[in-house]
Amino acid sequence: MTKGNINVSVENIFPLIKKFLYSDHEIFLRELISNATDATLKLKHLTNVGEAKVAYGNPVIEVKIDKENKKLHIIDQGIGMTSEEVEKYINQVAFSGAEEFLEKYKDSAKDAGIIGHFGLGFYSAFMVAEKVEILTKSYKDDETAVRWICDGSPEFTLEETSDKTDRGTEIILHIAEDSTEFLEESRIRELLLKYNKFMPVPIKFGTRTETLPLPEDAAEDAKPQTNEVDNIINNPTPAWTKAPADLKDEDYKTFYRELYPMQFEDPLFHIHLNVDYPFNLTGILFFPKLANNLNIEKDKIQLYQNQVYVTDEVKGIVPDFLMLLRGVIDSPDIPLNVSRSYLQADGAVKKISSYITKKVGDKMASLINENREDYENKWNDIKIVIEYGMISEDKFFEKSDKFALYPNVEGKYFLWNELTEKIKANQTDKDGNLVILYATNEHDQHSYVQAAQDKGYEVLLLDSPIVPHLIQKLESTKEKVQFVRVDADHINNLIKKDEPIISKLNDTEKETLKKDVEEGVSDTKFTVQLEDLDSTDAPFIITQPEFMRRMKDMQATGGGGMFGMGGFPEMYNLVVNTNSELAGKILKTESSEEKTSHIKQAFDLAKLSQNLLKGKELTDFIQRSYQKLAK
Ligand code: ADP
Repeated sequence: MTKGNINVSVENIFPLIKKFLYSDHEIFLRELISNATDATLKLKHLTNVGEAKVAYGNPVIEVKIDKENKKLHIIDQGIGMTSEEVEKYINQVAFSGAEEFLEKYKDSAKDAGIIGHFGLGFYSAFMVAEKVEILTKSYKDDETAVRWICDGSPEFTLEETSDKTDRGTEIILHIAEDSTEFLEESRIRELLLKYNKFMPVPIKFGTRTETLPLPEDAAEDAKPQTNEVDNIINNPTPAWTKAPADLKDEDYKTFYRELYPMQFEDPLFHIHLNVDYPFNLTGILFFPKLANNLNIEKDKIQLYQNQVYVTDEVKGIVPDFLMLLRGVIDSPDIPLNVSRSYLQADGAVKKISSYITKKVGDKMASLINENREDYENKWNDIKIVIEYGMISEDKFFEKSDKFALYPNVEGKYFLWNELTEKIKANQTDKDGNLVILYATNEHDQHSYVQAAQDKGYEVLLLDSPIVPHLIQKLESTKEKVQFVRVDADHINNLIKKDEPIISKLNDTEKETLKKDVEEGVSDTKFTVQLEDLDSTDAPFIITQPEFMRRMKDMQATGGGGMFGMGGFPEMYNLVVNTNSELAGKILKTESSEEKTSHIKQAFDLAKLSQNLLKGKELTDFIQRSYQKLAK
């Protein structure tokens, strides 16, 4: 038997490990199972290349709880270790690794993120165990098994043993008093499902009872036979590790449910990622139905490294707009032992992020080409992602003409070129700008939509919350294009054309009218604006100037904070139709009391038509209306 001191300079490193990694004790299991998996896959490789003269068979990794003796066993059938290898890999290399880690990250301990992501390896066992045993037998013929024991001090013992006759390694954790949660079956199962659900070697955890089918000639009252079988907790070959050609649509859906057992709705479509140069990455992204469900807190994209779950915090790795998606990304090339800010600056990570962005764009373009109708039907559920991508990623925006849709209020969908082609004859103003009219709510803005359609204009329905930002982006990148909401001005002014204007009033009359209305209305939120409209048009019309309204909308969804915390004021125009009969009547009315009453009444009617008349104003209006009727 050998006794010795593990090669460390820090006197007692274990309490330090324990304290340091406090928040993430549970990762010890992931680390030990990763080691067991590596050892198994190494053996597979050695047998494949003819280097190991043993049968690989169907190895499993077993996790076993011995509650009575407060022990947790992790048993593999991998390559095992010789006495020299334990000496080399466990006593020296592994430990200096842990020491180095602590040295390096002492100061950033608060950044809990990095800790969970850092594989402390074998020594993380000491976060939960007061004593650790390794029983191991190398695959090499003439090696005897060895037992290594360490109780958390730098001292260890290493001796040959006859307790282990089969190949592989068994790690035995003597669980510490403060970690007995890891002796609970439910807790271990939870961890196995969290970290190891898709690891490449089958993991056995307990047994389950299987009911055998009755033979065909069984008697009526025959009881079915049962059988105890290994309970394999993981799927060693998850969909993302397979070639897309080998998978059907149904397989992707099955995988989606495997990944998110609590999701009952199928995803809209999937994107299979697969690159091996200049970095390694596989994965599957899913577009969930998003329209009414912005509950993106849970069921996020999961990051794996070689089928080992790492985290579902993928910010920085995946561009922001794709965080709304679900699925899996598996890449050994993402550095995880670094802070988030470093991650975002990392070259490999940037490449990964832009690769994913490109793939999503390509997929959208191919989906719309394959089945336009289906794509249109799904547009409402995916537009948030696409529009967000367009405003936040230039590369994505550049391609978006191929797959971004612009629906009109009647539910027809246009690609950008289709839209501009259709409207350019009728909707180009006198300065050569293409004016695109839109509504954000077809019911609230119904009368304006109607007026625009009467003129033969196309009205888009752009109703997602980030539309103001998208419009801003389109206007700043496309040549001579201007978006105007249908209620931004009177229809004659929305698309200004060189048409003669006839007015019934002369300039002095107009001036008087304007002053009268301003006094009668006396509300600073409304700017009075005289317009020579059709005599049949409404006398008073309320509009909301595009610029102010858009700024306000943008501020509501972040950005455009020109007016500081107070936000943009609610601003309207009150358009007075100088050619209306009422305008003439107001001018002619002698009694100022009567004049004000007419103006108030007309103003209230205009407000009413915009659903802006509320509370006391509404009560007063109704009272006044009855009085007028009685007169
Ligand atoms: P890492 O896995 O990052 O190399 P670890 O501290 O987890 O670091 O393990 C150190 C070394 O010990 C491994 O590289 C491997 O050689 C050996 N080892 C650990 N666990 C096993 C195991 N279950 N079977 C065989 N060898 C193992």
